[in-house]
Amino acid sequence: MDDFYKKILDNNKKWVESKLVLDKDFFNNLSEGQTPPLLWIGCSDSRVPANEITGTQAGEVFVHRNIANMVIHTDMNMLSVLDYAVNVLKVKHVLVCGHYGCGGIKAAMGNDSVGIIDNWIRHIKDVYRHHQKELDAIMDEKERFNKFVEVNVKEQVSDLAKTSIVQNAWKNGQELYLHGWVYGLNSGYVTDLGVNYSSNDDLDDVYQLNI
Ligand code: ZN
Repeated sequence: MDDFYKKILDNNKKWVESKLVLDKDFFNNLSEGQTPPLLWIGCSDSRVPANEITGTQAGEVFVHRNIANMVIHTDMNMLSVLDYAVNVLKVKHVLVCGHYGCGGIKAAMGNDSVGIIDNWIRHIKDVYRHHQKELDAIMDEKERFNKFVEVNVKEQVSDLAKTSIVQNAWKNGQELYLHGWVYGLNSGYVTDLGVNYSSNDDLDDVYQLNI
């Protein structure tokens, strides 16, 4: 076995011990069930770990990650996670967290073909097309890249609000807040983009469902 693999097994033992020292019932309590207040939709990028960034413990964050933190409304995986989080776990917050330097976003700005992932990246290219004027107007490539990351997060938050799952929850009077963050790989800090939706009145008319 290689060293890394041995290390992670060993780390697990140490982690269990460190938790039990602080609270001998830590795992017993967690095994009873979960009531996380937050659903995190983030990028698969290894440098953006939901719990570490937010200083949260096991049991506090329900997590869905994919390349470039996308909310694709035909993605059964995402919809299942969202449905379970909203309707069963009754999370109060759903947060889309993108990050600067995102490889998925970078790929969507270029023309390289990298295989099957091209078809996933296409969803991100569609976001570019929606904001082409604003993005094309930015001459500096790095700046345009950063803006695209931000615009993509905003778009995904809006796509969350458009889902029947979220609109149903609002219609039922459930308290549910949507947020968009960008994480800085080089600083560790997140920025709240201020795209807060709390009812379907915030959506364009054509997306408002009469439930
Ligand atoms: Zn990424």
